[in-house]
Amino acid sequence: MTADTNNKKVSGRADLYARRLANREGIRQWYLRERGQRVIRALAKNGFAALYADSSEEAAGLVLDLIPPGAAIGLGGSMTLREIGVPEVLAARGHTLFDHWKAGLTPEEVMATRRAQLTCDVFLTSVNALTADGQLVCCDGAGNRVSAMTFGPKKVVVVVGANKIVNDLDAAFRRIKDVAAPQALSDIGLEIPCVKVGSCQDCDSPARGCRVTLIMERKPYNTDITVVVVGKALGF
Ligand code: SF4
Repeated sequence: MTADTNNKKVSGRADLYARRLANREGIRQWYLRERGQRVIRALAKNGFAALYADSSEEAAGLVLDLIPPGAAIGLGGSMTLREIGVPEVLAARGHTLFDHWKAGLTPEEVMATRRAQLTCDVFLTSVNALTADGQLVCCDGAGNRVSAMTFGPKKVVVVVGANKIVNDLDAAFRRIKDVAAPQALSDIGLEIPCVKVGSCQDCDSPARGCRVTLIMERKPYNTDITVVVVGKALGF
């Protein structure tokens, strides 16, 4: 093999790496879009109204279109909602917001806010995992989110990034324990085993975050639920 051939091979590989590097964001987007669009059909089969959005802006628009003027809104403890910017728009529009993450609330006010979420007009939240066959899975410490999602509010809107789509329930439980919980619990400053090592240690900590798990196999009879799947990575 001549030096010239060798040089061509090296430069060909460099071109390939540069092309892959330049394409990586596009490939990630394609992957999440494919998975996101596919799960819409499964959600609809399970009785949920299901919408797909390509971007945070599009998702926020879909959510806001679902909210009637003057509706009182319950906000689940969700980074996804905050990432797409919905709470700020609702506050600017003058909606009453029941947000237990609001700064400065006393413990009594946090509890009252969680209770108010159970009977609000529209409850907005995310979930920890969405299975490819359209089941919503989430785990709470207090249980206010899983309660409000199933019965009480007139309408529930779930926003979920395609990064949370998993193949089946086993993968959903693993995602909750090894991906969602360590990050979400670290975010609120809890010093518990999964936060220290980055994966579940099935702890007996008094601060254990995993206490109530909801699997929503089909839309509950009396709750109007819309799931907005976003073809990008959102939340924990
Ligand atoms: S059981 Fe404990 S260690 Fe495991 S994810 Fe939940 S809070 Fe973390």
